[in-house]
Amino acid sequence: MTAPTSARPLRVAVIGAGPAGIYAADMLTKSEAVREGELEVSVDLYDRYPTPFGLIRYGVAPDHPRIKGIITALRSILGRGDIRFFGNVEYGKDLTMGEYLAHYDAVIFATGAVNDAPLVIPGADLDGSYGAAKFVAWYDGHPDYPRTWPLNAKEVAVIGNGNVALDVARVLSKHADDMLVTEIPGNVYQGLRDSPVTDVHVFGRRGPAQIKFTPLELRELAKSRDVDIVLYDEDFQFDEASEQAMVENNQTKVMMKTLQKWREDDSPKTASRRLHLHFLQTPSEILGDEDGKVSGIRMERTRLNGDASVTATGEYIDYPVQAVYHAIGYLGSPLPEVPFNPDRGVVLNQEGRVVDGEGTVVPGVYATGWIKRGPVGLIGATKSDALETINHVLEDRNALADPDFPEPSAIESLLQDKGVEYTTWDGWLDLDEYEQSLGQSSHDAEGNPRERVKVVDRDEMVSVSRRGVPARS
Ligand code: NAP
Repeated sequence: MTAPTSARPLRVAVIGAGPAGIYAADMLTKSEAVREGELEVSVDLYDRYPTPFGLIRYGVAPDHPRIKGIITALRSILGRGDIRFFGNVEYGKDLTMGEYLAHYDAVIFATGAVNDAPLVIPGADLDGSYGAAKFVAWYDGHPDYPRTWPLNAKEVAVIGNGNVALDVARVLSKHADDMLVTEIPGNVYQGLRDSPVTDVHVFGRRGPAQIKFTPLELRELAKSRDVDIVLYDEDFQFDEASEQAMVENNQTKVMMKTLQKWREDDSPKTASRRLHLHFLQTPSEILGDEDGKVSGIRMERTRLNGDASVTATGEYIDYPVQAVYHAIGYLGSPLPEVPFNPDRGVVLNQEGRVVDGEGTVVPGVYATGWIKRGPVGLIGATKSDALETINHVLEDRNALADPDFPEPSAIESLLQDKGVEYTTWDGWLDLDEYEQSLGQSSHDAEGNPRERVKVVDRDEMVSVSRRGVPARS
């Protein structure tokens, strides 16, 4: 094993081009050692999707332009030209760990958490019971999901009191025409337009002071046209910990005000759709009909214990619903040849250095973002994570094994030789322009041209996004 010489740049592959990966790549290129001229770094950013921006493109709800706007900042990082983007390259399939380590001094995994944590109750497998992550992937036009979604329920239950539950409940209850100002693909508009939904019930297993929503996202519910918010007095119970949170935690304080305002609003409820927020009810069983389809949900009342935890009371309430979405957290997926904790859905690591089951550091392999610490926190929180990880890469750099093929062209040749149809940053700019042109030729409910219409088909995305890739000889 030889240390990388200062004569050549430190070569780093970041796998996952969502916010976590882009922040890590950016921080590496701006680190103190680089600024002071002690080190040159050369970073390549990979994604299994043909496009960059990961969760922002395929996880953030389309009617959240403020969060989607983070793309502008990420775009300016990748637009500088000092970080190369290789899209449509899947780790473990198109390139293996051995191939990465033969071309790079270090590999950072930033693959996020895209699967649903499982809901383990009877009936969870019935037809009409869905994980929220899959629905999110559908409405965000994810290339690897079916184009149709069975939106045939009039009454729907959404389990969970986090922001994903709010996204799902809002998208399910909103009128499709009001989504045309967003970038939703045509198939998603059509699916939502044909939905017969009238009532969406969101269930939290703890109390109103224990919600994991954030204030802006909660307030936003009231902005949906022709959707009434319905609250229930019996759910407004507080224990000692709740009282304390309502005094000491600003977010809780603000959200309790919002809920209180809605409770006091005695204007007539005439909307054609309703969004019900229920608290202190935990899912006990999803009920099915003789065809194996969801016909209801049995919730069990809970009681606060004083410390914000709850105990089930044995009192059950059945709600007639024809679909159940569980939004009870995401879970990261294992990666070939990378030590993994399946219960937490994270890569085994110490402060971003990947370790094996005995806690021994795996040289040259790192993790950042949700695959490092689990799926909690807003997008900005991945910045401190990235900093911790890249600081370790830089501390370790002199002890890392020299790759066999450090020249940046070597990996392109390998991808070419393997016939991997990778996409590029310039290709993304082409796709971006193409999606905007599709928007210009379609219209929202008021007849205005749409800003963008997302392309969903992977082959179509790839064929538009390969600018700069040499033709195969
Ligand atoms: P989350 O914030 O962790 O919320 C998960 C919810 O599921 C909690 O209310 C939790 O209740 C509940 N839950 C867990 N297991 C349950 C079970 N077995 N039965 C019933 N309820 C259960 O997760 P998330 O909503 O997936 O969000 C992940 C992260 O992404 C969060 O940091 C979130 O803020 C962020 N995000 C942000 C936005 C945005 O627009 N800003 C949008 C989407 C996601 P307990 O509290 O009782 O455990």
